[in-house]
Amino acid sequence: MEEKTETLVIGSGPGGYVAAIRAAQLGQQVTIVESKHIGGVCLNVGCIPSKALIHAGHTYQESKNSQYFGIINKETEVDFRAVQQWKENKVVRPLTTGIRGLLMKNKIRIIEGYARFTSPHRALVDGKNGQTAIDFDHAIIATGSRPIEIPGFKYGGRILDSTAALSLEAVPKKLVIIGGGVIGTELGSAYADLGAEVTILEGTDQLLPTYEKDLVQVVEESFKKKGIKVFTEALAKEVSETATSIDVTFSTKNAEQTLSADYVLVTVGRKANTADIGLAEAGVSVESNGLVKVNQQYQTSQAHIYAIGDVIAGPALAHKASYDAKVAAEVISGKKVEKDYLAIPAICFTDPEIAVAGQTLAEAKSQGLSVKAATFPLQANGRALSLNAPEGFVRLIVEQETDTIVGGQIVGQGASDLIAEITLAIEANLTVEDIALTIHGHPTLSETIMDAAELALGLPIHL
Ligand SMILES: Cc1cc2nc3c(=O)[nH]c(=O)nc-3n(C[C@H](O)[C@H](O)[C@H](O)COP(=O)(O)OP(=O)(O)OC[C@H]3O[C@@H](n4cnc5c(N)ncnc54)[C@H](O)[C@@H]3O)c2cc1C
Repeated sequence: MEEKTETLVIGSGPGGYVAAIRAAQLGQQVTIVESKHIGGVCLNVGCIPSKALIHAGHTYQESKNSQYFGIINKETEVDFRAVQQWKENKVVRPLTTGIRGLLMKNKIRIIEGYARFTSPHRALVDGKNGQTAIDFDHAIIATGSRPIEIPGFKYGGRILDSTAALSLEAVPKKLVIIGGGVIGTELGSAYADLGAEVTILEGTDQLLPTYEKDLVQVVEESFKKKGIKVFTEALAKEVSETATSIDVTFSTKNAEQTLSADYVLVTVGRKANTADIGLAEAGVSVESNGLVKVNQQYQTSQAHIYAIGDVIAGPALAHKASYDAKVAAEVISGKKVEKDYLAIPAICFTDPEIAVAGQTLAEAKSQGLSVKAATFPLQANGRALSLNAPEGFVRLIVEQETDTIVGGQIVGQGASDLIAEITLAIEANLTVEDIALTIHGHPTLSETIMDAAELALGLPIHL
């Protein structure tokens, strides 16, 4: 079969489906191709299912450990099959069905199959119903990423990637995680809450190496209480699998040891899906790390082919992919816009959560800004105490002369939602006075941002 389309989108993750919808809204005739699941990694095997398991874990722990304020529940247990069914039927499926509905509502042609470029204006899709050649005026590459495999740890059996770890049938008794980044730490936290004995092996000298040490320390304290063991500067060397368990040998600075577990989860990073999509045939250049090079308007080396999301540089986050998508679709529609990554929030959904946006103190200083930090502890917030969540703090990074907010970091309960206010403040160039004079509801965790702003002004009420 042969077809023609104005804009071809390859991949239907938070990059692809958003690009397709925005392009259609702006009047383009759009075709989207997806080889696995509509909704991509995030909705099917990433953000959404992981948050569902994390929530199940929290609820179990809350139910088991509420004696501190007089709630006693002696017979709490986890029916993990029911948890999985809830996650699939009530969380993932309604969302992915919803995306399909949105694509259809916007009159976007959906083709299920695997697309490869065969020339700069043509792609060939291998689908269930045979091959379709699609000629396009513009294309958007949104093929996302997949887990990296390390030598000697081939996925399968008791060696899990994040996708397999999200769909286990039972909570493992013992789980070893190789890689203490966001994905490994979140899944480790979820399974520890659900009752597993979790050990995390991290190669660098800090768990969650992309976040500042003082934020991570708060999470580490909580991990200790949950019984999660963390080895840093730990190098996983080999595994040997038996019928009932798997042994992992790893070395730290001074020693080598072997742990026995039900499963080993490898979360050492992700790589872009760019190797087998015909980039050479399309004339699109790719960098040595597999990422597609784009300009400020997401154009690749072929100006009519764009790339967004996990296949280009920048944080591999769903909301960043969706942002890229909207800008790229607008560029194709003739709008004079370009990318601006001023304040992309990054969130780690551990317990407590970490959330950051904009610059850290060190980053701002290294760019020559004269900045100060104002840090307000959750311990001094009434709502945090009423939630039994006094751990953590909110920090604003503020330019000395102008009082403009250039960054913020939060660790504590609710950080994932609270960061939105700081993100807006950075994006809108607000000062700490703007925040301090904004009336925040009481009692709420959001008041800590107002308190940090007052602190930055030198007029703290609650410290
Ligand atoms: C366990 C886990 C948890 C995560 N949690 C979060 C989180 O909480 N917050 C967050 O912001 N991010 C999170 N992420 C990251 C997030 O999922 C990604 O950044 C996001 O999905 C990237 O979107 P994308 O559109 O670029 O690509 P993807 O979501 O990877 O989608 C790409 C799609 O393209 C399809 N495809 C690939 N090649 C072809 C082809 N040739 N033809 C047709 N289709 C093709 C793929 O099947 C896939 O469906 C998580 C990731 C994982 C793995």
